[in-house]
Order: sequence, then structure tokens, then C-alpha cells
Amino acid sequence: MSKGRGIAASVRVVNGIRPITFIDGRSFAAETNKSTDVERIPGRTYNVDVNATLETGLETSSAGATKAVARLFADIVFDRPMDQAYTYAVPDELHATAAIGKRVEAPFGRGDQTIVGFCVRVHHDPPTRDAKFIEVVLDDEPLVTDALMRLTRWMADYYLCSWGQALFAVVPAGAREKAGVREAVVLEAILEAELPPAAPSLTAKQTAALAHLRRAGAMELRQLARLAQCGPGPVSALVEKGYARRTQRQIDRFAPVVGDDSPITLVELNDDQRRVWSTIEPAIANGGFRAFLLHGVTGSGKTEIYLQAIEDTLRRGKEALVLVPEIGLTPQTIERFRGRCGEVAVLHSHLGDAERGGYWRRIASGQVHVVVGARSAVFAPTRNLGIIIVDEEHESSFKQDATPRYHGRDLAVMRARLENIPIILGSATPSLESWHNAQRGQYTLLTLPRRVLDRPLPLVELVDLRHDGPPTRHHALSPKLEHAMKEALGRGGQVMLLLNRRGYSTHIHCPACGYVATCRNCDLAMTYHRQRAALVCHYCAYEAAPEERCPVCQQVTIRFQGMGTEKLQAEIESKFSGSVVQRMDSDTMQRPGSHQRVLDAFREGRIQILMGTQMIAKGLDFPNVTLVGVVNADVGLHIPDFRAAERTFQLLAQVAGRTGRGASGGRVLIQTYTPEHPSIALAGRHDFLAFAKQEMAFRRQHAYPPFERLARLIVRSQKLEAARDFADHLASGFRQALSHHGDRRPGGPAVKLLGPAECAVFRLNNYFRFHFQLQCASAGALHEVLREVLATARVPGNVEYQVDIDPHNML
Ligand SMILES: [Zn+2]
Ligand SMILES: [Zn+2]
Repeated sequence: MSKGRGIAASVRVVNGIRPITFIDGRSFAAETNKSTDVERIPGRTYNVDVNATLETGLETSSAGATKAVARLFADIVFDRPMDQAYTYAVPDELHATAAIGKRVEAPFGRGDQTIVGFCVRVHHDPPTRDAKFIEVVLDDEPLVTDALMRLTRWMADYYLCSWGQALFAVVPAGAREKAGVREAVVLEAILEAELPPAAPSLTAKQTAALAHLRRAGAMELRQLARLAQCGPGPVSALVEKGYARRTQRQIDRFAPVVGDDSPITLVELNDDQRRVWSTIEPAIANGGFRAFLLHGVTGSGKTEIYLQAIEDTLRRGKEALVLVPEIGLTPQTIERFRGRCGEVAVLHSHLGDAERGGYWRRIASGQVHVVVGARSAVFAPTRNLGIIIVDEEHESSFKQDATPRYHGRDLAVMRARLENIPIILGSATPSLESWHNAQRGQYTLLTLPRRVLDRPLPLVELVDLRHDGPPTRHHALSPKLEHAMKEALGRGGQVMLLLNRRGYSTHIHCPACGYVATCRNCDLAMTYHRQRAALVCHYCAYEAAPEERCPVCQQVTIRFQGMGTEKLQAEIESKFSGSVVQRMDSDTMQRPGSHQRVLDAFREGRIQILMGTQMIAKGLDFPNVTLVGVVNADVGLHIPDFRAAERTFQLLAQVAGRTGRGASGGRVLIQTYTPEHPSIALAGRHDFLAFAKQEMAFRRQHAYPPFERLARLIVRSQKLEAARDFADHLASGFRQALSHHGDRRPGGPAVKLLGPAECAVFRLNNYFRFHFQLQCASAGALHEVLREVLATARVPGNVEYQVDIDPHNML
């Protein structure tokens, strides 16, 4: 036993080994004829009960003597696909430190290799088999809060991954490695009460430095000198004169420098906003789970509602979590939150492990009260959450495309439920899932139908490319769009052009024999990138030199067709040589910070035409953009995905919303070959309600989400036969399970099975892929069938499978 600040009890047990239990629940084993010293915590008294045996798991033999066995056990989960916890014994010396939410090292598998796992339960139930011992407890404090333990457990059940996979996915590596912490010497202000009665007087500079130090409590010397705008002299004098002391501390590398308080700007809500706020405010005041769907047209002031909700939550001493799509995490957005809410932790995918870990610890220790982040921020370890906000809740980027395949918005709703707090989902184009939940009363629908300051939504004109298209197939701009651009630029306005396809030519083929350049590894067409002078696969990044002759028939007639952003840029630059053109797509925005540099230049008017992929469509607010052009609205319409129409509507409505946000108004031109398609026609009229009504009817008719739940199971192997055989093996398992399923739950919702079938892209990254699609009104029934089939499936070594619940990627 370690000796602490004092010894409460010295216990000698004469007859056998007996445990000692304290009223605070700690227990220790005392060995025969040896004294055991126990640490005393000041202000508490302890009863020592030398007869308690059962509670601590000592085994009593028939002779009445006791023998020592491991009394405390810990259930550990690992980053492995099997959803199973393994029970380990906790050695005596780790009793005090083993706890739920901490990581441990333990021997695993036949070779007893030491690996890291998460402790998910500590208990006294001896396992049926001999338990191995955990070796090390890695963390001083639990990395995962109780609420996150429950959320990750739910996540494992719902997305059919293991609890270990869920836990390892949510805790950033930086938090796990303790990176980003350094030892430093800091100055600590001595409390006024502790100062001697006649403390030496201070100079003006020293007084100023002391004021800063007292406000911060403790600070590094250099930092204090910078803040007090003085040299090291006055700061050191504070120590010499007894106003401060030097001390060693663990410093978080990413703790922000303490600066002046941010100015608070009060904003007057308009009538619509007031109406919305009057519904949200009591929900925050009363607490309890409640989900709001905030449907507000672009430019209607949704962010102001979020800010009010955050401020109100902070005033009540609670914390706020805001999820935004990765692309929406611009400094402009962040500044807006910082300006009103003080220090904000920002979690996005470009953070290094150490930086992410630094934020994680600051959030966990309650130093930051507002967290803004992309998908994975839903796991931020706040301990006193009061509200969750999900902006642009319809965005597909909230869904993770790798195990665990969770949806950040859906997890956010579950987290709000588990923490019993309100959540606001906001969008100008809500997902049909959330819309459905609002229609059937699960979410409270709130609407902001007008733009702020009564600005009108921009007028949208459709340009029918069948009649009014560009003069040649090598061009992208119709005469109408070109004219509108000239007009807008001539009046000093700025232009945004959307083309959701990167590269130069998107279709490389031989008209003589029909050859199409496809990727060596995937069943996908290659795109020609002129800058890199290469054919590129946009899925696996395979690059090949462009062929001059057709590799099949050797004719020299190979054609480069189809319009990508690179080619569009060339056309615009030649037609608008007097304007600065900037392309924004994932090819030009690879360097960190480049996205922001372009947006800054555009805001300052140094760029006149900003063109690019959907990157330019999301959440940007530039008052001087008076024209938005969509070069080809049909790009995403004809892909084999039941959400294609919904995504097209959302993208068009969002990009149209980028204009008319200033006093000079705005205009939108959409070029399309199918102006009659509802996604395009209704986006042109800003008519979400009509679109939702029509699309919901289609979904209902085909039993697609949101009416039924969908699960997808992909089987893949580099060996075609192996993939096919395993898919067939699963198919028979499904047939059996579905017949059972009908028997067990008569009258229950039927599970519909499609497949096995080849995936839309059959070969991807050198894997041959088959898939099953399961549809059912109940997610529970889908889970049941999948679990039953996968539990007994024998997976060959060269085959993998992936389960995707509520899939968004249908390739
Ligand atoms: Zn050919
Ligand atoms: Zn490829």
C-alpha cells in the first residue's frame, strides 16, 4: 500500500487473508500477519470491516480459510471486428487505476501478444475460464465520458461494427498518445491574501504585467511579456518582489494565447427569427431531448438562430456542440462563432494528431465550452453538453465511408437523446429523412421562409442546352450564359460558375472501334488532366500516359471529349481575358490554406470569376456575387443511386443561394438538357416543398428510405471466383435466415432481399465486388437478419465483406 498524506488504519489480520472494505468502496487485501497501511484522505472517516468477503470476490474454501484469487475484473474491447469484450483479471497494484473509458495493455490471442484495448466494465464476476491479467493501465483519466461510452455502444449495435472499432474510431490518435503536451516553467500569481502586509511597490509596467497575470492565473514568461508589451525585466521583477512564483507545469501546445475578450455584437432578430427562437428557447431552458428541424431558405439567417442558442446555453453554464460539413469550416464561419461565443475548439480533418489531441483534452477538461467541427466532432468529449446543432444537415459528407460507417447527423440525434438535451438540425434543403421525421411529428419543424432584410431569392432561368447550347461541342458556355457573365462583370459584379466534374476531358474514346479509356484497377472511365498531362482515375488515383493512338485498333482518331473544370477554365480565360479567373476543385485546393486564400481574394474582389466543383456551392456568403451559372445541371442526375435526384436538387438550390445576398441583387442561369426534370425545374423555383412531395411519393412507391430502412452488404475479393462463391454462400444463409425470420415474427415487418448482384462499379481498386441490399420498415429486423447470417458465415482469407447501414454510397 502506498503511504499517502497520513495513515488511517494499520490493520493486522491473523487468521488467513481477509479483505478490508472502506465505506467509500475501496477495498484492499491484507496479508496474514502483515500490517497494511491505508492512505487517508483528509476530512473523511473510514470503517474497516475485516469480515467482508463476498463483495470483493475472495473465494472461501470449505475449510473456512480463504485463498487469494484475482478479485477485480475488467472487460476489455479491442480494435477488431468481433463485437466481443474479453474479461481480464486486474492485478492488485492496478485496482486503483483501472476504470471504464481508460486504455489498457493486455495479452491477446494465442500468442499472447500485448495489444491496446479499452476498458468497458470493471466488476467482480469471475469469468468461467482462467482470466489473463491486464499489464498496464495507460491513461490517468478516462479518455471517454460515460455518455460517449453509451453512444459508442449504440453505434456498434446500430452500424454492426465492434465496440472496440467504434471506440478507437472516436478517440483521436493525438488524445491517445498524449502528444502536444510539454513541460514548461510558468509564472503563477500569488493571491493578494497571501501577500505580506508591506509588499514592495511596483512600477507601472510591472503593475500592468501583474494585472494580466492575475487575470490568467498562470502564464509563461514570454507570453506574459508579449501580452503586457514589455521586456522580460518587469515580469521577472514580479517574482523578485514576491508577487509571483515560478512553477513547473504541463502546457498544452494548443492552448490559445489569452487575449482581450471578443467584442459582442448584439443582433436584432426579425419576426421570423423571433418566432423560431420563441420555440427553441424554452427547450433549452427546460432541457430534455427535443429535435428541431430548422428549414430556412438560403440567406434567411439560420446562423443567427444557432448563435442565440449557443449564447443562451453558455449563460446557463452548459456547453454547445456544432457540426458543420467539412467544407463549411471556413475561417469566416469560425470567426463568426468566436466573435460571439469566446473560445471555440475547432475540429476538422486537417488537424494533426497532436493538435486534435490538444483540443480533445481541453474539451474534456472543460476549458472550452463551444466545439465546432466536422463529422467526427460528434464525439467531442464535452462533459456538460446543453445543445447540439447540425448545420447543413442534408450533407452526405456527414456519413463516413469507412468502418465504422456512421452518419454524424444521426449519431448527433442519438447523442442528444442519450444526454437528454435539445438538438437543432438546420438546412435550406433538408434531407428527406429529416423531413419525414418532421412530417410525422418526431422532429419539430421550424421555418424561415424569407431572406433577411426581405431580400428576394434570386431569379433562376433555365437554359435548354438542346436548343440554346454552346456553338460547338468543345465549348461549355451558351450564348445566354456568356452574355449574362459579360453583363454582370461589366457592372462590377462577381460571377460564380459551377461544374461538378474535375479534369479536362472526361471521356476518352475511339470513334472507330468504340474503345473507352478505363482504369486498370477499376471499371471507371479515366479523366484527362491537361496540367498533369495524364489520364487519372478519380477513384483509385491510378495515372496513365494519354495514348495518341487507339490501343485496340491502332487508328489515330482517339478523341478527348466531355467537359471538366480544367477545360472550362481554359474557355473562360480565353473569353474573359480582362478578368481574373480562379478554379476551385480538389486538384487546385490541395495545399493547406489554399481554399481560404482563394476565398479571401474573392471577397476582396481580386478575383472576378470563381469557378469549380461543388466546393463553391456550399455556405459561402459573398454579397457582390450577382451571377451564378451552372454549366451542366445534369452531371449527377443519371448515376445509379436513388438519391441522385435529391442530391441534384440540393446542389442547385444551394449554389443558386450564393447570389442575391447583397444590395445589388442576383441572377442564376442553369444550363441543362432536361429542364423538365423535377430536380431542376423545382430548384429553379426554389420550391423545396413541391420537390419533397414529389420525391417522397417516388420513395414510398419503391420502399426506399425514409419509408423503409436500407442496409447494404458488399463482398469483395481480388479473386473473382472467391468473391462470387462467398456471395453465394451468404445468399443461402440469407434465404435460411429470412425463412426463420418469417416464422419467428409472424406479422412483423418483412425483410426484402435483393442480390447478390454485381455492384454498379463491379471492379474497384482491383477488387471484384458483389452486393446485397436489404430493405425493411424496421432497422431492428435488418440488424437481426444480418447478425444471424454473418455470425455463422465462414469468411475465406481472400474475401472481405463490409456492412453499410443507411448507405449513402451506392457505387
Ligand atoms: Zn479504336
Ligand atoms: Zn481506378
